[in-house]
Amino acid sequence: INLNAGPSPLPDAALLTAAASLLSYPQTPGMGIAEISHRSAAFDQVVLDANKDLRTLLEIPDNYRVLWMQGGGLTQFAATVLNLAAWYRIKHQLAPQDDVEGWYAVTGSWSKKAAEEGARMSISARKVFDGKKHGAAGKFTGIASVDQWDVPQLEENARKPAFVYFCDNETVDGIEFGGPGSAAAFPFEAFDPEVPIVADMSSNFLSRPVDVSKYGIIYAGAQKNLGPSGVTLVIVREDLIVDLDAAVQYGGARVPAMLSYKNMADSNSMYNTPPTFAIYVCSLVLRSLLVSPPLPLPSPTARPLAPLSDFADQKSSLVYAEIDASSGFYVGTADAATRSRMNVTFRLPNGGEELEKKFVKEASEKGIKGVNGHRSVGGIRTSIYNAVTLEHVKTLVAFMRDFQERNQ
Ligand code: PLP
Repeated sequence: INLNAGPSPLPDAALLTAAASLLSYPQTPGMGIAEISHRSAAFDQVVLDANKDLRTLLEIPDNYRVLWMQGGGLTQFAATVLNLAAWYRIKHQLAPQDDVEGWYAVTGSWSKKAAEEGARMSISARKVFDGKKHGAAGKFTGIASVDQWDVPQLEENARKPAFVYFCDNETVDGIEFGGPGSAAAFPFEAFDPEVPIVADMSSNFLSRPVDVSKYGIIYAGAQKNLGPSGVTLVIVREDLIVDLDAAVQYGGARVPAMLSYKNMADSNSMYNTPPTFAIYVCSLVLRSLLVSPPLPLPSPTARPLAPLSDFADQKSSLVYAEIDASSGFYVGTADAATRSRMNVTFRLPNGGEELEKKFVKEASEKGIKGVNGHRSVGGIRTSIYNAVTLEHVKTLVAFMRDFQERNQ
């Protein structure tokens, strides 16, 4: 039972097909999928199919491009900023000395890191929410309602920010916009509709329906719900894609060609040699989610990702119920309203770190792997991505109950 936070388990059927295709890909008999050219018709078809299935699953509108990039989420911390700063400089024909602002909702470790990287990219990174200031003991514990955020009220002619950035699911801190069972997402209404919203969905990508049209950019490192590490999916609204070199006369930076969304879009994500095998596995995962979702579609008209959302609710609520029924033996680290359905984080306060270590060790001996919290925060984290089954979660919950009985 693999509850690692990422890389994490992928659907067996997809992996079996991938393994067979390593030796010989049906479209290129005798040559494996990792051995064929990224410029071949066979690989072109892989990307076409992956894009088509992704568009179906996420209901991506036609005015958005799908880009397969490299460098993980961390590279997107910079790439989103560099591309949108250029878009903004061109749009407003800025003078070189003019400043560009990006607004960050900091709800956990990853958005904090993104804001720090934004500040390194020579923009002014302003925190419109800082979860550490709101959380108990200066920790990230939840998301205050937007009326408690520090969103600047702009004068009529004041310059707007180039973007508003948030992380939809904080993998380390177990905090998710929307919370269990809720479709409510980021407070879009609090921001000027002209300002593009950027979302890091690395760890809850493909776990529920998303209204893509509300976003300027959505990105996700593949290595949770989508595929192996090495590929990062970027969904970007077409009008935000600009020639980065054209922004230089307006004070824009020279940006590495590989980070340009325009270069990626113009080349169908093949500006250089892409991680072909990783993309292929993603294509198989997408296909498996489409043709055999873990739960049936709740109704014929339901949105394609509705079954995955129900599945995530079903699994995570079992673990949260066990935490809440433990009379304080287990204590969740996130406020109930913003608990993540993907990464369930909790502590064992009565026994401290020693008891948590024992929990991790005994879980591992029972075959339940990867439940230690992120090294920066400690505690326990059980990551329950799409490929974790209900049976796996029931086994985890039974272990938690047994462990409590033996150790309280
Ligand atoms: N954003 C989120 C939400 C993550 O969970 C992670 C990694 O786990 C990252 C960003 C960083 O991604 P990468 O390691 O692919 O750069």
